Parts: sequence; C-alpha cells; structure tokens
Amino acid sequence: MSRHNRLVTVSGTALVFALSATGLVPAAQAGALAAPLRPAIAPLVAAPPGKALPAALDVKTPYEAQVSCDPRTQPGVAAFAALMTSQYKTGVATTNRPCLADTSEHYDGRAIDWMLSAYDPQQSAVADSVVAWLSADNGVMARRFGISYIIRNRKMWREYAPERGWATYTGPDPHTSHIHFSFSWDGAMKRTSWWTGSANTVVDLGPCKVYAGQFAPLHTAIRTTACPTNLPAAPVSVYPVYVIGQRSTQIEVAQRALGVPAGGLFDAVTYSALVQWQTRVGVPITGVLDKATWARLVPTTPVPTPPPVVTPPAPTPPPVVTPPTPAPVPPVAAPWAATRYTPYKGVVLRQGSTGAAVAVLQRGLRVTPDGAFGPRTQAALVTFQSQQGISVSGIATRPAWDRLEKRDYPLVGYRGLSVSRGSTGAVVTAVQRALRVSADGAFGPVTEAAVKAVQSRAELAPTGVVSGWTWVAIESQMLP
Ligand SMILES: [Zn+2]
Repeated sequence: MSRHNRLVTVSGTALVFALSATGLVPAAQAGALAAPLRPAIAPLVAAPPGKALPAALDVKTPYEAQVSCDPRTQPGVAAFAALMTSQYKTGVATTNRPCLADTSEHYDGRAIDWMLSAYDPQQSAVADSVVAWLSADNGVMARRFGISYIIRNRKMWREYAPERGWATYTGPDPHTSHIHFSFSWDGAMKRTSWWTGSANTVVDLGPCKVYAGQFAPLHTAIRTTACPTNLPAAPVSVYPVYVIGQRSTQIEVAQRALGVPAGGLFDAVTYSALVQWQTRVGVPITGVLDKATWARLVPTTPVPTPPPVVTPPAPTPPPVVTPPTPAPVPPVAAPWAATRYTPYKGVVLRQGSTGAAVAVLQRGLRVTPDGAFGPRTQAALVTFQSQQGISVSGIATRPAWDRLEKRDYPLVGYRGLSVSRGSTGAVVTAVQRALRVSADGAFGPVTEAAVKAVQSRAELAPTGVVSGWTWVAIESQMLP
C-alpha cells in the first residue's frame, strides 16, 4: 500500500522537538531527557499539539477484539510505550502475554500496562495528566495514537464510545497498579497521524478467524471488509491447542516433527519454526499449535471411511493469506519467569530515592507506598535485612530484592523446571505444600488432580504438568 511510503521515521531528536512543540516536554528540559532519576511531574497536557500534526483527525475505529496470538509487540504500541517512559521516567510498560482462553489485546501485541500506582502521588499525577491529555475532546489525542480504550483505577474510557466517558470498570483487576492501553490495528501498526503526520483514512479491522473455535492467523494485511461468518469446523486432531510459553510432552511431538530441539517447552525457536512450516504448508499462519496444524503436522486420526451413498462436495478451503516472506520473529524471553520485582533487580535504592521502584520496595516492606524513600522505609528495610540474615545496610541492593521475591514468590526458583506424574523430590514437596495436598514428595494422582484444578481455574490447558504459567497460577492461589 502506498500509504506506507508516507510513514515518517521520527528520530529521537526530532521527537524531543515534536514534544516540546506540543507542550509535552518543557523546552528547557527537552535537552536533558536522559538525566533525572526522579520522575518529572508533567504539567497537565491539554492543548493538542501544533504544526507537527495535520488538522484532519484519523478515522474513527470500532472495537477490534483480539482473535490472534502474536508474541511481538506491534510497532505503534512499542513506540507509544517508549515515548511515555522516556517522557515521564517512571513506570515500566509490560506488554505481551501468551494467549489464554479469554480476550485481551495483550495476546496479540496491541496492549500495554504502564505500571503507575493510583496510590502513589507522583505516579498518580503522571497518570492523571496522560489520560486527561489522551481522552480530552472525545479523545482527539487517543485517535492520533490509535488508542482504542484505557482502563485505570476502576474506570474505563473508550475511543469507540467516548460518549460513555470514564465509565465504571468492574473487571477482576481494579487497575490501581497500572494503566491499561489497548490499540486499534491502525494504531498498533503505527499508521496514525501522530507517527505519520497525516490522518489515517482507512480502518484496518485486523485478522479474521479461518476455522470456528480457533485463533486467527497473524496480522499480515489491511482488512477493510467484514470477516466471513459460518466458519468451517476445524480439522480433527487428538492433540489440544498449545500457544507459546506452554510446556507439555505433546509439544515435544510437534517439535520432533518440526525438526527443532524437543524439550517440550513451546519456545521462540519452536515458534519461529512453526510459523515457517505453516507458511510453507499453507495452513493458517497462526503461530499456534492449533487443530489445523496438528492435523497436518502429526496426522493421527484414522481416515474416516467415506459414507456409502452420496459424498457431499468437499468444502472449499478458506483462503489463506501467505506473505511473501515470513515475518522475522524476535526471541521471546519466558514471560512467566518474571515477578513484580524482576524489573528492579538491578536498581539500588537508598534514603532520598524516589519513584516507581521505591513504591514497589515499600509495598514489599509493608510501608505506605508513596514512592519516597524516607526514614520509615529505611527502618523497615533494616529490619527486613536483619531478619533475612543479609548485610544490614539500609540500602536496597540485589540481595534485598532477591529475598523479597523469594518471600512473596516462594516457587520462583523452580519456574524453569517441569514436574509431573511420577516426579519425586524436594520440588514436588514444594508444589504439594503450595497446593495444600499431602507433602510426601511423590507426584501421584492426588497432586495431579490438584494441579489440573488450578490449571482449569487459570484457563490453562489442564495437562497436570507443572511448568511455565502453571507455576505462576499455583503461586497466585497461595496469596492471601
Ligand atoms: Zn492490561
């Protein structure tokens, strides 16, 4: 599409200029963006930016629900996250997660969680400023970024329904620890006016499912027409659907067929090989070990005897969009290995430090998380360090972060491992304690049933195997 030719690459310097022109960054501060550890309290940014942006506004987009699984953070999403964190020097934007059974744009690379606490005055001020700027005037600035909706502190704002305003949000997570941003496909693909300098006029509605009950292919092309209805049933396979991040002995079967190391973990190497195989073979390019892939990759079901009378015509296979070359797939760090302390492990905090890392430390130390490291935080840290038998310095360094993590996530050290029926030993004992079943160190049917119950509650495949996200699910049910 020729519209791509208009895409303007914004260099770091140009971006600072653009922000200065918009009032996002005070001009005097613009040159020193790399400097402060202390988060800048942004002025309320209400005025729409000037000359860098066209007068015309990008076309309005509908809600575009996630239907595909994509471990890549889409370019417009990554650029927005980088813009916000470089501007405000606070919060950590977390993005992609492997697909679960529910719907979330975190699963297709179109969402970020910006970790700004509603209970931290500095972070809350930043959050207020940003959401006010984006949602003002029915979301003029949100439209320029292709932001579809925002959830913050029990409230949700929708670009596709701005008349509802900041409506009450009643989802399971109150969103007091972060702001959630979901993007339209145009915003996700960086085709909106903030980035291109011209208003987007064509709505890209994103990928369509090919088979009923299966994930859609990865995004490859702009779609402007409705998805087909009455989808064909998926090909039959005895194997369940697996997504990146999961581990199972059944995944080893696929790995052997794909010719990649067969450790049973659906990792980035497996993902990359799978996408290439799907492209070559002509099944929907989903990046998922789905039914269509299993049926071709590991055909196991006996071919049914054709009915004796009239054979109905075979359904026309749905068209599969094959890109000329498979998109490069960046390696994916195991996202289930991270805890809320992971981003801060390298951070050293002492009296006088401020910001998001301090608030995380304070929550860990059960001190009011105001983001300012004062005498009370220091006293709590000294107590914690002496309880833990580590160097009592009153300064938070790696050992303190590690001990906090170990206390709050007692199974974290095991997350790279896999245990299942027949496993024995200390790891099994730890799993059993967490599951509150008899802790005899032998993984038998009772332990397996308890694992499957946790997996079902967490909407994970009920494999009975403890690995990857299952560790996280077991740990999260241990919390009070
Ligand atoms: Zn989120």
